[in-house]
Amino acid sequence: MAKVKRNQTFTMAGTEVPVGERRTLDLEVAQLYTHAALSIPVEVVNGRYAGPVLLVAAAIHGDELNGVEAVRQLLALVDPLKLRGTLVAVPVVNVFGFIHKSRYLPDRRDLNRSFPGSEKGSIAARLAHQFFEGVVRHCSHIIDLHTGAVHRTNLPQLRVNLNNPISAEMATAFDVPVVINAATRDGSLRAEAEKAGIPVLTYEGGEALRFDPAAINLAVKGCLRVMRDLKMLRARARKPSAVVIAQSTSWVRAEQNGTFRSLVQLGDRVRKGQALARICAPLGHSECEILAPKEGIVIGHQTLPLANEGDALFHLAYFERSGADEAQAQIDTFLDDVSELNVVTDLEEPGLA
Ligand SMILES: [Zn+2]
Repeated sequence: MAKVKRNQTFTMAGTEVPVGERRTLDLEVAQLYTHAALSIPVEVVNGRYAGPVLLVAAAIHGDELNGVEAVRQLLALVDPLKLRGTLVAVPVVNVFGFIHKSRYLPDRRDLNRSFPGSEKGSIAARLAHQFFEGVVRHCSHIIDLHTGAVHRTNLPQLRVNLNNPISAEMATAFDVPVVINAATRDGSLRAEAEKAGIPVLTYEGGEALRFDPAAINLAVKGCLRVMRDLKMLRARARKPSAVVIAQSTSWVRAEQNGTFRSLVQLGDRVRKGQALARICAPLGHSECEILAPKEGIVIGHQTLPLANEGDALFHLAYFERSGADEAQAQIDTFLDDVSELNVVTDLEEPGLA
């Protein structure tokens, strides 16, 4: 590393993290009914050299567990003595939801619609406020790890504001098969942090309440690639893939009630009018086919084999014709890579930084 500047002590939630060291700290956010304190566990890895402050956060939706495991694996790989800048790792932001295996907070609100929060609002608003002021505002870049909802799985994908050049560069570096240039929703971490000038990548992969080794593996690798791109880690020679951006996405819904048999898988390219699934009554009559409205790639689907009319069953991404070929090629490569992946222990050796 040429002309590296020595880092400084990093302070968060009243804890000082010396240069070249790591500290676990607890960001106290609330009390339980029992008056026991509830806090968000945070690990700060303060590098030897000055550089960006990257927040990697997971489980803003408390039942989305792939990111929790990805953060654990990432932390095992980062050595503060070889790090430029600071890694702030928060495996469980929504501690209430995590304890209850729920997406939401006890007041039934969605934390990812509650940012930047307020000091005197509901429990969701207060938690959002404390996390935003106590952690988010201290960071220069953010990767926010999510998974699909309960009974829904997602092909690894990024939601990003490509109009922000820094977010776009992070997305290119992260390198997943599909990038969606997604509008932000008010109150989400991505929307509110970007308003505050902090670029955010939102990663989606796998299903709630499950560990999906492929989605976890890609999350860890993506974070490491972004850290290399930000010069936080020493870069290795590697040709980045071309990012393929979906033009649009839509959900295909059930047209009747019954048992639901899927005919396609994540990553499949489907043509207009192709049958995606069959739905019928338990005795087998009244069968209908669910058809693709236009050519696209399956980036998410329901895993529960039961459907009510109107249920969102398949999430399809649509590309320009040349983009679809490129996306298909990248997804095939990705699926080939992960088909050989049973466990991710090869990534767990420390000192890779
Ligand atoms: Zn989520």
